[in-house]
Amino acid sequence: MDFSQRCPCGQLSFADVGRTVQVVGWADALRDHGLLLFVHLRDRTGIVQVVFAELRDQATDLRQEYCIAVTGKVVQRAPGTENPALGTGRIEVMAETLEIISRSKTLPFAISEKAMLAGASVTAEAGVSEDRRLEYRYLDLRRPSMQQIFFQRHRIIKTVRDYLDSQGFVEVETPVLTKSTPEGARDYLVPSRIHHGRFYALPQSPQLFKQLLMVSGFERYFQVVKCYRDEDLRPNRQPEFTQLDLEASFIDEEFIYSLLEEATVRMFAVGGVELPRPFPRMTYQEAMDSTGSDRPDLRFGLRFIEATDLFKSTNYGVFRRIVDGGGHIKGVNVKGQSEALSKNVLQNEYAKEIVPSFGGKGMTWMRVVGGRLESNIVQFFSDEEQRQILDRFQGETGDVILMIADISYKVVTTVLGKLRLHLAERLGLIPKDVFCPTWVTEFPLFDESDEGISSTHHPFTAPDRTDFDPTDKSALLQLRSRAYDLVMNGEELGGGSIRIHNMDTQRKIFEALGLSDTDVKEKFGFFLEALEYGTPPHGGLALGMDRVTAMILGVDSIREVIAFPKNRSAVCPLTDAPSAVTRKQLQELGLQQPAKKPAPQPPPAPKAP
Ligand code: ASP
Repeated sequence: MDFSQRCPCGQLSFADVGRTVQVVGWADALRDHGLLLFVHLRDRTGIVQVVFAELRDQATDLRQEYCIAVTGKVVQRAPGTENPALGTGRIEVMAETLEIISRSKTLPFAISEKAMLAGASVTAEAGVSEDRRLEYRYLDLRRPSMQQIFFQRHRIIKTVRDYLDSQGFVEVETPVLTKSTPEGARDYLVPSRIHHGRFYALPQSPQLFKQLLMVSGFERYFQVVKCYRDEDLRPNRQPEFTQLDLEASFIDEEFIYSLLEEATVRMFAVGGVELPRPFPRMTYQEAMDSTGSDRPDLRFGLRFIEATDLFKSTNYGVFRRIVDGGGHIKGVNVKGQSEALSKNVLQNEYAKEIVPSFGGKGMTWMRVVGGRLESNIVQFFSDEEQRQILDRFQGETGDVILMIADISYKVVTTVLGKLRLHLAERLGLIPKDVFCPTWVTEFPLFDESDEGISSTHHPFTAPDRTDFDPTDKSALLQLRSRAYDLVMNGEELGGGSIRIHNMDTQRKIFEALGLSDTDVKEKFGFFLEALEYGTPPHGGLALGMDRVTAMILGVDSIREVIAFPKNRSAVCPLTDAPSAVTRKQLQELGLQQPAKKPAPQPPPAPKAP
C-alpha cells in the first residue's frame, strides 16, 4: 500500500480544491442519503467529509471505525451545505477509489465525538464507566479529545525538557531494578530468580542516584522518570507515576525557585495559562496558621483568624477550659453568607455532622445581624467580648463567624482547614481558571511518629542547623528543614530540598531516626561512602508530571492524562494486571517449593519364572 501521497484529513483546506488527494483514517460517522453516502473520515489531525457517489454501492460495506484509504478530488461544498463546526467544513472529497484496510468489530462504546468541532471542549465520554473505558483503552484513546490530552502532555514535557537543556541540565537514566529509596511509601519488590530470597525494589524516586550523580560531578541532572509507590488506594494516586526529577550542585534555594518558576510558567503557557510571577512564598507555619494545610488553596479567602487571646477570662466554660489548658481557638469570617448559612444549617449540619466527621468536637457559630452577634451561645459572652470578636473578625451584618476550639493545635488547624475547603466548595467561592502557585518553605525536619520520629520529607534533606543533639527528641522536633514544596490550588505539584552533603550530619540524622549502624550500613552504606569522596553542596526537586498536566489541561483525574492507567483499585482493566502467575514461575523465583513428588515405589517384585 502506498501512502506517499497521503494528505492529513484535518489539514485539507479551501486551497486544495481541485487537487486529487489520498486520505486515510477511520470512518467516524456515516450517513446514507440514497444516491450519496457521506463519511466523516478521521485521522489524528481532524475530520474531512468524503462523498461516495459512483462508489456508493461499494461504500455501503463501511461501518464505524473501519480503517480505510480513499483517493478523490477535493471540491468546494455546495452553498448551504458547509459545516462551520468542522475545520474542513467548506470542502469535501469526492471518492474515486476506496480501500478497506481493516474492518472493525461492533464497538463496545461510541468513539465518535464532536470534540474536533471548533470550540468544543475536552470532555470524557459520558455514560461509559471508567473501567469499561480502561478495558478498551486503545479505543478510548482513539477519541480526538483524548488524543489532544496526549499531544498536549507531549508538548508540556518537551517544553520543560528543552528549557532544562537550555540551562545546562542533562537527562540521565537511573535504574528501575534497584534498592529501596525511602520516600515514605511501601516498595514494590521484584524477586530475583538468580539470587533466591533477594529482591530488587522499584524506585520510589531516583533520589539516591541523582545525589550520586552530583558526587560524580554532573552538576545539573534531570530525568522524566517513572516512580513506583505501593500506597493505600486514594482516588488521585497511581501506583506508578511520572516525575520530572532534577538535581543541581553549587546552588541554593533561590536557584531552585527561579528555575522552577520559569519552567512552570512555560509549561502552563502550553495550556494557555499565564501564571503570575514571582510565586509567593509562605512558611509551613504560616500555611498551617492561616489555612490549616501545608498545601494551601489560595484561590479564595477564608483565612484563619487567631482568637485564643480573646477568651482568656471568658465565662463561656467550653472556651475557658480550652484556653486555661493551653489550647487554641481559631476561626473564619464567612463574609456575607448568612443567607446561605442559616441557623439550621450551621447547627444541625455543620456543628453536629460535618465538623465531627472532620475530627472536631464541635463548632461555634455566630451570625452578624444588625451589627450584633447572634447565636445559640452568644449570651455567654460579655459585651466587651462580643465587641472584640466583631473587631477581630471584622464582622459586618450578613457575615458568619465560625470558630473551632481544641486543646490540640493540630485538631484546630486540621478541622478548620477542612471546614474552610468544604465551605468554599459549597458556597461557590473558588473561582474557575485561576491559578495560585506558592512555595511552602521551612517544613519541620521531623514528624512525631509511632516509632519516635520520622523524616517529614526524606532523610537526605538538609536541616536548618547542624549543631543539634540527635538524642534530644524535643529539640529535634523543633528543627526546620531546607525543603520546599511547590503548591498550586490546594495541590502539591512537587517538592524537594537542599541536601546534606556532609557525612557527619547525615550520620546524625540517621541516629536521630533511630537507625542502628548496621541498619544504615545495610540500607545506605554505599551512599554514605560516596558522601566521603568530595561531595559538592547540592539540592533538587521533583514535580509530579501527571498532576501538573492534569492541572494545566483542567481535568480532574490524573487517570485522564496517563495513557494506560490503573483504575481506582490499582488494577489495569485492559491487561488484568496484577494477575496470577504459574507455579513454575514462583518456583523459579524461589517463592514456592516444588510440589512434593510421590515417594518412589519399590519396583514390582520380579515375577517368578
Ligand atoms: N525525591 C523527592 C520526591 O520524590 C523529591 C526530591 O527531594 O527531589 O518527592
